[in-house]
Amino acid sequence: MVDMKRSSEDGTNADLAPATLSVWAGEDGSPVQGATQVPIVYSAAYGYPDVESWLDVALGRAPGHIYSRNTNPTVSAFEEKVRILEGADSATSFSTGMAAVSNTLFALLSAGDRVVSVKDTYGGTNRLFLDFLPRVGIEVKLCDTSDHEQIEAAIAKGCRLVYLETPTNPTLKVMDIARLSAAAHAVGALVVADNTFATPINQNPLALGADLVLHSATKFLGGHADALGGALCGASELIAKVYHYREITGASLDPMAAYLLVRGMKTLALRVGRQNESALRIARWLQEQPAVAAVYYPGLETHPHHDVAARQMRGFGGVLSFMLEGGFEEVKRVLARLRLAHRAANLGAVETIAGPPATTSHVECTVEEREAMGIPEGLIRYSVGIEDAGDLIRDLEQAFAVA
Ligand SMILES: *Cc1c(COP(=O)(O)O)cnc(C)c1O
Repeated sequence: MVDMKRSSEDGTNADLAPATLSVWAGEDGSPVQGATQVPIVYSAAYGYPDVESWLDVALGRAPGHIYSRNTNPTVSAFEEKVRILEGADSATSFSTGMAAVSNTLFALLSAGDRVVSVKDTYGGTNRLFLDFLPRVGIEVKLCDTSDHEQIEAAIAKGCRLVYLETPTNPTLKVMDIARLSAAAHAVGALVVADNTFATPINQNPLALGADLVLHSATKFLGGHADALGGALCGASELIAKVYHYREITGASLDPMAAYLLVRGMKTLALRVGRQNESALRIARWLQEQPAVAAVYYPGLETHPHHDVAARQMRGFGGVLSFMLEGGFEEVKRVLARLRLAHRAANLGAVETIAGPPATTSHVECTVEEREAMGIPEGLIRYSVGIEDAGDLIRDLEQAFAVA
């Protein structure tokens, strides 16, 4: 057992690199009889010998757990791992990424509040903005993701919260977190950033000025496509507010899922490092292919937001997308021919995963809505796994071959 609190004088763990923190952070709870791994604690409630000691834990005077909808030791280990990797004061978790998004928004917003975000957020998040927030009297302004002047102008009109997601899904647009956080703070608004695509290995939104960072842990954090989860990190008062809301909505992370996420996260830095390298190599190769009309990857010098990406990210991530000359018919043909890719609505796993927006990120939208968002039907989202990059390139080559 390693005591992370002992690892650096100031308790920030700033002396340790992300690859080390991926392995060790959050693993210093109370192991069962010397177990080196975080135990899966499947107990709905926690018993106490007397009311006094029970009260101490219930009132937060002593550490411990009361009921697993609120807190659970396995879930706490997961929260601690994400918290330390994001360099946050505090963290909480959720049953899914969408539970993280919805609980955060509903916990922090009330009727009459105004939110500013962009058109390119994750499909489920976009549905919250278009349907569910307006239904309870929250005004939502969605701006053109690439137009920072427009976003700044919308923020300057006054708002309670600015919601960012960068890079975006599926066209990998990049938003300037520092610039938009400054605009938000000038009007007293909170900034929430969805860091799912970048991961804390490539980008730390809190260090760039955001107030809260959230994740669909289902994707890169877990990395093995076998568990759903969500996380939120930030200042303790903000996290406490969202945590108390989540206690009541009951969107709690299951201990088995938390265990799988903790195990997956040990290789986070290793996986993401490999995925960064492979994605860049594949994006460069795709640019040279006659079958490909456009490649979307922030690591490419030709990407319109490459400069911002290079400034705020340490790596450009494992997801890219590309548009085929042949449109949706060609997308269907190429996807069917890929040997080394799951055709599935997921991303961020050890296996490569490919799919069109129509069945993945924007399945909730109509063709017209996708078009309005600038998501062409000829697009393939390609989440690069940890396979050999040369094998993946040869697989794409054979899939393109028979035109
Ligand atoms: C998948 C995803 C979500 C939602 O996460 P779930 O775990 O599927 O609920 C939110 N944001 C982004 C960017 C995602 O990719």
